[in-house]
Amino acid sequence: MSPKPFLWIPVPQQAPRKQAPVGLEVFRNLTGRLDLSLVVESAYFYVGSGAYEYKAGARPNEPEVWHTFARREGQLCIPGTSLKGAIRAFVELLSNSCVSQAGRQEFVPMSHKQCPESAGEICVACSLFGRTGWRGRIHFADATPAAEVRTQIVKINELWAPRRTQGRKFYSGNQYKPLSNLQPERNHRFVEAVTKGGRFNTAIFFENVRAEELGLVCCALGWDVGDKGTLVTAYYPKIGGAKPRCFGMVRFASPVVNLWGVSSGSLLPSRTQKTGKDALDYIAQCIAACKKNGPLVLDAWKRLVEGLRAGTACPEGLY
Ligand SMILES: [Zn+2]
Repeated sequence: MSPKPFLWIPVPQQAPRKQAPVGLEVFRNLTGRLDLSLVVESAYFYVGSGAYEYKAGARPNEPEVWHTFARREGQLCIPGTSLKGAIRAFVELLSNSCVSQAGRQEFVPMSHKQCPESAGEICVACSLFGRTGWRGRIHFADATPAAEVRTQIVKINELWAPRRTQGRKFYSGNQYKPLSNLQPERNHRFVEAVTKGGRFNTAIFFENVRAEELGLVCCALGWDVGDKGTLVTAYYPKIGGAKPRCFGMVRFASPVVNLWGVSSGSLLPSRTQKTGKDALDYIAQCIAACKKNGPLVLDAWKRLVEGLRAGTACPEGLY
């Protein structure tokens, strides 16, 4: 039997460290925008829109109805909210924050229940990404195709959530096994997926973050500092739907760092832009700062990188 394409990382016994939220009334630390590309590394990538498309008079071996990829004004698009939710889950793990997106069946220890709205002190992830009544300091733009992105209608097994939970779940696995026929049948559905190599552009806006907090977000994107102090890819995060079917593995690339000038609590009408090697070096420094004094939990980081690096094949059956 093939291994299951996910990794359980237990919720630590230690409660999240909580602090008063960082206000946005004055500007301090780093405010700016990180431009970057997202490249599809698995065979397929799918973000659903909730909409369907159909083909009247489809041949017997052809799909009649399929779930469409998300679009904005007719163009393929990965909503910023999808990116934010996916990256937040990695940040929650890496900073021992509260668990904000637990399923109904999922057990979350009291210590890690979502920070309540009225709380005067909140965890790192809530402070960065926000929660009800608190806007947060990290925002994702919708990602749009960087060039022509190809799509394909793919047949997949229906997805069954594992019955037991053993902590936080992260999907690994990169080899999609094609199904033998394209006929509609029970327990299967068709989705419009972007194929490997598809490239999107997006941006992450940040306000009043410290270098180590920006470093934490960059770790969550799958980046790390290599032996020579340069920026390297540590793992490919998974985003979007059909992850148990080995969809959704992406690589973030080509960062450009835009920093706004700040003086006496106000934004200045000036901007510094770091491109190419300067941008890579800058991000590497932020990650190094995060590992040294920042909110990164090194044990969780090690488990994640090791677990996701081992690319397992995806199982074919239902489980
Ligand atoms: Zn929280």
